[in-house]
Amino acid sequence: MNQRMFDRVLIPTDGSDAVEPAVETALDLAKTYDAMLHVLFIVGQPSSVSGTGEGFAGLDNLLNELEEEGHRATDAVADRAKIDDIETTTAVRRGSPHDDILTYATEHDVDVIVMGTHGRTGVKRALLGSVTENVVRHSDVPVLTVHRKPED
Ligand code: ATP
Ligand code: MN
Repeated sequence: MNQRMFDRVLIPTDGSDAVEPAVETALDLAKTYDAMLHVLFIVGQPSSVSGTGEGFAGLDNLLNELEEEGHRATDAVADRAKIDDIETTTAVRRGSPHDDILTYATEHDVDVIVMGTHGRTGVKRALLGSVTENVVRHSDVPVLTVHRKPED
């Protein structure tokens, strides 16, 4: 029997509008290859909270809010995948988006990573956001980058 090329597709999402076309592509790819879709949101740990004046309680609240946002973002993709009968698993993790998307991909033996060229920050002059740039540079598996809609 032929090995299919893509059995496990990873879509890392930051829940932004800019990631939407990448989500569409990941859904299509998973459907086409009858692959398992992994939807991942990383709650980035702020490097410093000094100056917020809120101390650790403030940080904890912030991380909890981000985690809830992560569940909303990943559940939204899973709901759409369900309509198309795509097998899906969601994950919300705390860590560094730059590193932990790659860690997740290795741990779960994913075959392709689909991600937006841009995310929440969406700096127009940059060709790629910093998270995508790092994943493209260091991933062992193919990375499919999908541009945001022109009007965004
Ligand atoms: P930057 O973050 O460098 O200021 P940006 O937000 O426009 O710029 P990225 O963060 O690189 O660009 O986002 C590009 C893609 O990376 C997103 O479309 C999404 O697929 C993925 N991504 C970004 N942040 C996260 C995250 N926290 N969790 C999961 N995926 C993420
Ligand atoms: Mn970003």
